[in-house]
Amino acid sequence: MQVKKLTDLDVKGKKVFIRADLNVPQDDAGNITEDTRIRASIPSIRYAVEGGAAVMVTSHLGRPTEGELKAEDTLAPVAVRLGQLLGKPVRLIQNWVDGGFDVAPGEVVLLENCRCNKGEKKDNEELARKMAALCDIYVNDAFGTAHRAEATTHGIARFAPTACAGILMGAEIDALGKALHSPKRPLVAIVGGSKVSSKLTILKSLADKVDQLIVGGGIANTFLLASGKRIGESLAEPELVKEAQVIIDLMKARGAEVPLPEDVVVADEVSAMARANKVPVDEVGPHDRILDIGPKAAAQLSQIIANAGTIVWNGPVGVFELPQFAGGTKMMASAIAHSEAFSIAGGGDTLAAIAKFHIADDVGYISTGGGAFLEFLEGKTLPAIAALEERFKD
Ligand code: ADP
Ligand code: MG
Repeated sequence: MQVKKLTDLDVKGKKVFIRADLNVPQDDAGNITEDTRIRASIPSIRYAVEGGAAVMVTSHLGRPTEGELKAEDTLAPVAVRLGQLLGKPVRLIQNWVDGGFDVAPGEVVLLENCRCNKGEKKDNEELARKMAALCDIYVNDAFGTAHRAEATTHGIARFAPTACAGILMGAEIDALGKALHSPKRPLVAIVGGSKVSSKLTILKSLADKVDQLIVGGGIANTFLLASGKRIGESLAEPELVKEAQVIIDLMKARGAEVPLPEDVVVADEVSAMARANKVPVDEVGPHDRILDIGPKAAAQLSQIIANAGTIVWNGPVGVFELPQFAGGTKMMASAIAHSEAFSIAGGGDTLAAIAKFHIADDVGYISTGGGAFLEFLEGKTLPAIAALEERFKD
């Protein structure tokens, strides 16, 4: 994945248009309740403004109707927060698509919610060309929307005089490329979570690349079924047993493996009151639910992680929200944190687990893009990145 990078460009006196992801959560009064995304966007904005550019930043916020700007859709609170973080006022510009506003070198303005513009979602070419005409350099720093081809994430990149990746986007591209396109071996993937069906494409795509594919959580239950084990009343998808077998065979054919847990933690219900029992995988009773991997399996997994060259992690290996079933995910998180391997992790619940077990600083890279990260693991081309790649040479 070769793309131009903002940090390789001289931006002095240039008009720079940054597509950031400033889609922050807000309370009913519009107050920002969590500003991680705004903070994460600061390095690119600061690079441009300190380099002497006239900087325009835009983002989507929520799910507005195109052609309308309701009170809850405005980026006004974001402009205030951005100004505080940059230490200088940030003007909010409305109706900006056709230009008609001035930005001074060294100034930052915020362009109102880009999803309020007609044609944004459908990647309308006329809209994209108009936006491209506003700038000398287009910067995409919104990895979270890289899997969507929209006018500010895709179309504009085709028509702007120069198109490049911002600092956040660049780091994301580098980390994902390092993990999956040129990994240090052995490459180990851990795919957990509740359902095979939601991650079937990921499992198949990874089965083609990795040296060990560790399945956990509800996903492992379907694989246990495929290998003839009894799983009682555990969450599983019997209709996908064949698919699980295909993945096991794919891995075998490459001389690789899908290691399955030798012991598990079971209970008769998924609740905070549930009594957890550790049992060998062959002793799961007819009314048991498997809710975590057992200590032996966790130790085996930790060993695999310790020997890995690269680790890709998506999905917890147990119901980590409840303490009795959090042990496996916790041990795995700790193994990843202590491993010498380059590790990347992503996914909504995976990020929650990383926060819960306090290992954020010890993971090589934590992907900010939920859907975009998963589509990357699926082996799909992300349209926003593809558009930047096409502009690499000119
Ligand atoms: P992510 O958001 O990181 O991609 P998923 O959404 O696929 O992860 O899966 C997370 C959920 O899977 C968690 O809520 C967790 O409780 C659940 N889970 C994990 N193991 C099991 C299990 N053995 N049985 C049922 N649910 C499980
Ligand atoms: Mg989830």
